Amino acid sequence: MALTPSQIERYRRILVARRDEFVSGIARAEAAAAEQDELGRLDYGDRATANAAKDDLLREAGRDSEELWRIEAAFARMAEGLYGICEQCGREIPVSRLDAVPSGTLCVRDQEISDRKRRLAGTALTDASGTALKGASGAVSGGAPSRVVL
Ligand SMILES: [Zn+2]
Repeated sequence: MALTPSQIERYRRILVARRDEFVSGIARAEAAAAEQDELGRLDYGDRATANAAKDDLLREAGRDSEELWRIEAAFARMAEGLYGICEQCGREIPVSRLDAVPSGTLCVRDQEISDRKRRLAGTALTDASGTALKGASGAVSGGAPSRVVL
């Protein structure tokens, strides 16, 4: 059973409200991160703490950005008249699922497949960027090798 225009309108309103919320949330996180930058400059000793706090804030903002991207994708699906249809298999997404995740563009099965792929990819990405970040901050101490085998 396809979604009625009034059902789509209801989801659209939910998503518009959520998008506004995210946009202001991201702005807040970025402002807070800039503030932590200031704190980091003031006192060298607090710099690590400030940087960690900033990383947390930006990570949080990053998650929000991702959801924002999904919401925009849902709007695009609405514009194409494809909202509520799984992007992957073309089947209808159950209303119960749209109620839970209005920004969803995949059916439950394809979302699970996509999540599993992302988790695998995400783990690898986190490891890679984590190592890269440590390497960058390690440059402060001269980037000495952690262990020299004699
Ligand atoms: Zn599907």
